Amino acid sequence: MAKLDPEEAQKRIDRISEIFSEIVSHAETLSQLRCPYRNRNDHCTAEFRCRNQRAPAVEGTLHGCSHDGNFDYRNAWESRPLEHERIKEKVRDIRKHAARRRNQVRHKK
Ligand code: SF4
Repeated sequence: MAKLDPEEAQKRIDRISEIFSEIVSHAETLSQLRCPYRNRNDHCTAEFRCRNQRAPAVEGTLHGCSHDGNFDYRNAWESRPLEHERIKEKVRDIRKHAARRRNQVRHKK
């Protein structure tokens, strides 16, 4: 097995470090322009409301994202993310209540 030239090894390590630092720098720049909740098909996967969400093209699928990457997307996010869970719970309660009322009406007939 050939001996490793320390100078050559250091050159390679420096080159790899340079490549990785460029990747990290590029990822950092992109993270400020592309929301982490936007998937590769430009659908929003966030579990909260955001002003950039657009109605889904097909009922029951993910919302679209209208953010064009020219401004900071974060100020469009719902400022109280836990509100989403509270509203979902409220909707569940309303549905249960409505189902109960429908059953009562059916039984009276
Ligand atoms: S709609 Fe808002 S939260 Fe969803 S991907 Fe776009 S910017 Fe992000």
